[in-house]
Amino acid sequence: MARQIPPFALEAKPLTDEAKKVQGFKWADAEVGTRHRLGGDPDFLQDPIWPECPECGERMTFYAQLDSIGDDVCIADCGMVYVFVCMDCNETKSVIQSS
Ligand SMILES: [Zn+2]
Repeated sequence: MARQIPPFALEAKPLTDEAKKVQGFKWADAEVGTRHRLGGDPDFLQDPIWPECPECGERMTFYAQLDSIGDDVCIADCGMVYVFVCMDCNETKSVIQSS
């Protein structure tokens, strides 16, 4: 059964020098790279997509959105990955969107 998880801010903190080098964008909007979140409502960049669980058919729970990191680690066109979970069946699906 889909439920809503309370929202948590997530921050991408580089753990190595290599990670520091790939973080950041030359031309993207300032918010790109900072939109990571766990729970709450997804910030869909395109039309909303709510996957259904392949096991039980119920609408899946939004778990997290993970933003692009930098020009070298960019999902689609400065997009994000949205992760959905069925808490009952332990199934997961993810969706990519970009603006
Ligand atoms: Zn399920």
